[in-house]
Amino acid sequence: LDSEEFRRQGHLIIDFIADYYKNVEKYPVRSQVEPGYLRKRLPESAPYNPEPIETILQDVEEHIVPGITHWQSPNYFAYFPSSGSNAGFLGEMLCSGFNVVGFNWVSSPAATELENIVMDWLGEMLKLPKSFLFSGNGGGVIQGTTCEAILCTLTAARDQILRKIGRENIGKLVVYGSDQTHSSLQKAAHIAGIDPKNFRAVKTSKSSSFCLYPDSLQATIESDIEDGLIPLFLCATIGTTGITAVDPLQPLCDVAKRYGIWVHIDAAYAGSACICPEFRHFLDGIENADSFSFNAHKWFFSNLDCCCLWVKNPNALIQALSTDPEFLRNKASDSKKVVDYKDWQITLSRRFRALKLWLVLRSYGVVNLRNFLRSHVKMAKHFEELLGTDKRFEIVAPRYFSLVCFRVSPSVMFKNNKYENGKADNDVEKIAVEEEKSNEATKNLLEKINASGKAYMSHAIIGGMYVIRFAVGASLIEDHHVMRAWKVVQQHLDAIL
Ligand code: PLP
Repeated sequence: LDSEEFRRQGHLIIDFIADYYKNVEKYPVRSQVEPGYLRKRLPESAPYNPEPIETILQDVEEHIVPGITHWQSPNYFAYFPSSGSNAGFLGEMLCSGFNVVGFNWVSSPAATELENIVMDWLGEMLKLPKSFLFSGNGGGVIQGTTCEAILCTLTAARDQILRKIGRENIGKLVVYGSDQTHSSLQKAAHIAGIDPKNFRAVKTSKSSSFCLYPDSLQATIESDIEDGLIPLFLCATIGTTGITAVDPLQPLCDVAKRYGIWVHIDAAYAGSACICPEFRHFLDGIENADSFSFNAHKWFFSNLDCCCLWVKNPNALIQALSTDPEFLRNKASDSKKVVDYKDWQITLSRRFRALKLWLVLRSYGVVNLRNFLRSHVKMAKHFEELLGTDKRFEIVAPRYFSLVCFRVSPSVMFKNNKYENGKADNDVEKIAVEEEKSNEATKNLLEKINASGKAYMSHAIIGGMYVIRFAVGASLIEDHHVMRAWKVVQQHLDAIL
């Protein structure tokens, strides 16, 4: 590692990235390459001799950029945002620059202590109950992703109960979510050794806006208990992946607590919004949950990866995840006065992610973070209003945050000659045909939009409806990008109808 050569090459790369951001709108948002494109373009084996950074960067431009889907483009509206920022990026640079491996306190005290501090800061910004903060005997940890956070908390909950009932009873443990809960719960349950038969995706419905209904949860739990099973873990979601449905925390926690169930709250995307007082009510009831996580790398300007997890009882995590090999033993750990984050996560080695969160919090301040989030919500609201002016579209779910879900209205499909084949003889059949045609047209519309490269949106299937998801949150977005996306949607619908 030669520091002067690093400086020279580093400047080149920074210039390259700055130009990339400047020009990101010029690229088709969704990559247009075909599978296997890259192997055809790159040599079969690694170079024997070193190559200059200039040549490598040329290849990045020529061969890598075409295969990139531009998540930082202001015309990116797919999945959920992965909003980078100057501060997030520069924090990542510092993290990579120091390149420390902060598995325990002594391996880099600042890495652990800064993480303790920023997690308390952020917890206070979210108005989490004190019991989730270090200052209240709980605590926060930065994980890579929500998948890891859920796996760790589920493992903690599992071991907590197995210590009481015996490991031989693992086959009786039941995990609960809804049919809208992210697939990471099912994966975590699988990895944690929960019998696949004991995974419950409780059904939701359009009439309750696809949230997990406490009565349905209770009925499912009762039926499991009757069958001799043991309820273990509930994952409630604030802002589900499909349509940002919000599970009602208060009554769900009430039900769960009656049965001694660990409640995890997954607010991967929407958690950020809760730093704004007008959105904080979505977390009401969190006092009775056991753990809470949100992805600062989604809609909080902290470049991937940065999942913030808080737990009320860090000991439950530590008991499930700690290892104590001799080579890691040290005075500070033995004193029990420090946090050793290796015991709060799956891996041993860990990055100094807290730096980037610290930079984000300090560089923007609570005031600007709230303003960014609010501006995205306002843009989503505007898009929703535009949809409302065109009868050919239907908004399929309430918009709580910055995601708008819509589809081609089924009634339009029946009026449209192209689809009217006189197939339906009665009302039930007519509705079924309309729904089917709406799904086909919406899917077709989405593919056309994305193939145009002018905007990128994604889809979900909710209650049998194929819907387009328009998620606002790219850091570079401005009002005119929303107007442009709206024109793209309208023009492509004109073309297919
Ligand atoms: N939970 C929800 C509600 C999500 O929307 C997502 C991703 O979009 C996840 C979990 C998974 O997040 P990660 O990729 O960080 O594991």
